[in-house]
Amino acid sequence: MDYGPAPESSAEVMGWLGARGAFGHYIDGGFTTPADTFATENPATGATLAQISQGSAEDVARAVDAARKAQPKWAKLSGHQRAKYLYALARSLQKRARFLAVLETLDNGKPIRESRDVDIPLAIRHFYHHAGWAEMLADEFPGLAPHGVCGQIIPWNFPLLMLAWKIAPALAAGNTVVLKPAEQTPLTALAFAEICAEIGLPKGVVNIVTGDGRTGAALTAAPVDKIAFTGSTEIGREIRRATAGSGKALTLELGGKSPFVVFADADLDAAVEGVVDAIWFNQGQVCCAGSRILVAEAVANTFTERLQTRLSKLRVGDPLDKCTDMGPIVSATQRQRVAALVSAGEAAGATLVQCEGQLPAAGHFFAPGLLIGADPANPASTEEIFGPVATLTTFRTPEEAVQLANNTRYGLAASIWSENITLALDIASQVKAGVIWMNGTNLFDAGAGFGGMRESGFGREGGREGMLAYLRGPSPKPRPEAQAS
Ligand code: NAD
Repeated sequence: MDYGPAPESSAEVMGWLGARGAFGHYIDGGFTTPADTFATENPATGATLAQISQGSAEDVARAVDAARKAQPKWAKLSGHQRAKYLYALARSLQKRARFLAVLETLDNGKPIRESRDVDIPLAIRHFYHHAGWAEMLADEFPGLAPHGVCGQIIPWNFPLLMLAWKIAPALAAGNTVVLKPAEQTPLTALAFAEICAEIGLPKGVVNIVTGDGRTGAALTAAPVDKIAFTGSTEIGREIRRATAGSGKALTLELGGKSPFVVFADADLDAAVEGVVDAIWFNQGQVCCAGSRILVAEAVANTFTERLQTRLSKLRVGDPLDKCTDMGPIVSATQRQRVAALVSAGEAAGATLVQCEGQLPAAGHFFAPGLLIGADPANPASTEEIFGPVATLTTFRTPEEAVQLANNTRYGLAASIWSENITLALDIASQVKAGVIWMNGTNLFDAGAGFGGMRESGFGREGGREGMLAYLRGPSPKPRPEAQAS
């Protein structure tokens, strides 16, 4: 198989995959014998990567049982002792950062520059950060207790990073977990399972059961104490229905259609680079992607021209090449979905402008683009495309900008670009979104709570709020600075 100008370690990754052949689940500290397997593919080539086990309800039950048995002992450890394990996981991930970056890129298709510089470092940072929380927990939140066993279900767009967002705070708080990775991208979760075994994490504290939505549904129905889900709004709704009245705690991180608002006094060159991060990062497969660009009419022509020039310079191709800006969409199904929504946007009157240049013949590539002049009722303005295409619409007044920004059923994130901080703060206070960036976008930090409102879900991950989501008991008093604001 030819992977092009690959980093040296891709040979190591292919060797690792070859040696395993097929993967079982990671339950109670060991891998099960692979059974009922399905193939995963490299989205850049369509070539088969690995055989993965489809988890049955019995597999889920055994994993939950293992997590249940391990939980009291894990929760009884001192915070310092749990922190030592979390630090060990962080260090071990760090040692394998290069390997994990290549594995993630092969499995998901994201450019190696992103997996190397964003996904893997942020995942590691999450474990370090939550090791700190484990140390401080008894002092910070006296009287609060872990939920017990957490079922965690994650999507394919940031496989190891979403795993870190779920597992690190759960373990810090004294919970044990059963995690189901997305069926398209299970490989870094399985590599993580090997790391858990290597560092001597007590058996049953982390269990990984692979499979598709049926495995996810079995986990939702299993006797766990909390479900933490990241994925589509549609499945989030199903999970909410399935857990209603069960007493299970629930957090949902769902879809989005986030506005990217450019005022006339914005630094337009910085805002153009912002769009690159907002919608062409990770092929636009980002829940908080700035997918609705709203630009002040006074600068719309200049901004659009510069944006189109920048778009024409994007390099789409082999994600293992360090010079590549955009890789393939994760799967053929997802590519079709993106293409259909973009066509619907055109049919409803928007003009599609795409990066020219030849796309690779194999794999699920889709040219990045803009849908210019999409009105608010255009399906491309209302539906989450979850691909590398943003709509571009103009506004005349700040009031109209706010009205357009809020004209969505989602409320995950928003990005506001202006050199006038008073205006930006005023707009931020009126935009309905869980996360608001100013003169920046897609910035994530383990110390800051992330999450949505409206149909983007509820609950926070990261920071103090994210830690509280893995604890139960009387709500602690807000910090003095939070009260003051
Ligand atoms: P998806 O909802 O189809 O799948 C997500 C996960 O749920 C997968 O592991 C899948 O196997 C599992 N699943 C499917 N059916 C299930 C069921 N009936 N019961 C339980 N689990 C089930 O989403 P996707 O297509 O993998 O991911 C894309 C979506 O995720 C987008 O809408 C995106 O906005 C959202 N997302 C949100 C965030 C966030 O933090 N808010 C982050 C990343 C992705």
